[in-house]
Amino acid sequence: MLSIAGYDPSSGAGVTADIKTIAAHGCYGISCITALTVQSTRGVRRVVPVSGKAITATLDELVGDFVISAVKIGMLGSAEAARAVARFLKCHRFKTVVLDPVLVSSSGTRLLAPEGVQVLKRELLKLADVITPNAAEAAALTGIRIDSSQDRERTAQKLHELGARNVIVTGGHLKIPNDFLSMDSGARAKVLTGRKVSTRSTHGTGCAFSTALACNLALGKGLARATAAAKKYVTDALKSARPIGKGIGPVV
Ligand code: PLP
Repeated sequence: MLSIAGYDPSSGAGVTADIKTIAAHGCYGISCITALTVQSTRGVRRVVPVSGKAITATLDELVGDFVISAVKIGMLGSAEAARAVARFLKCHRFKTVVLDPVLVSSSGTRLLAPEGVQVLKRELLKLADVITPNAAEAAALTGIRIDSSQDRERTAQKLHELGARNVIVTGGHLKIPNDFLSMDSGARAKVLTGRKVSTRSTHGTGCAFSTALACNLALGKGLARATAAAKKYVTDALKSARPIGKGIGPVV
């Protein structure tokens, strides 16, 4: 399993958190860092991009050595990183590509530059098998605010029009934390019901969900079953997370 994502030194989100999730699924994780961040459980202070050249060289090195069963893409940081990842996906065909369109941290720091959002919309959405925006990310990509279940369907439809084949709008931040799965460019849909877990340890839930989804797909589950398994993994992680750090603690 290859995680292409940012580096969070507190290991709540980003590649080091992804490696923990991948290991918990019995898979082997490799990674390519797209940006460093200066952050702790108290928030993201700075984003330091990695050059497109270094990203391309890392990805080429890894793909030359490993059989990659699934790719998960998280924080990209810059337009240069987004372009390097798009080029990589166009050059190689992978069985499973999960894209978590990370845009802004919970603490309010931009995790993808505005020009990078355009690359994500124009190029990356159609190169992924499934995308996993939360309600805020889906709204930022489509301009539709999600207040009702109809809004969620319209949002998923708009994301399909932008080129995404399968969309999961995660609902962890909403009052009723249901996930909405829209498959085959909107031909089939499913609501996955959930219960709010009361915890302060929510940092990295998006990373854990998208990586668990990629692992379950790599292990051979279909999309609906893999989504349910990823949701269960995150719910169990939220329930068992220990309160580490002075801020929003890591979920895994
Ligand atoms: N840092 C990195 C490297 C991330 O990938 C993410 C989210 O995907 C974040 C920070 C933000 O996480 P949170 O929204 O839980 O603060």
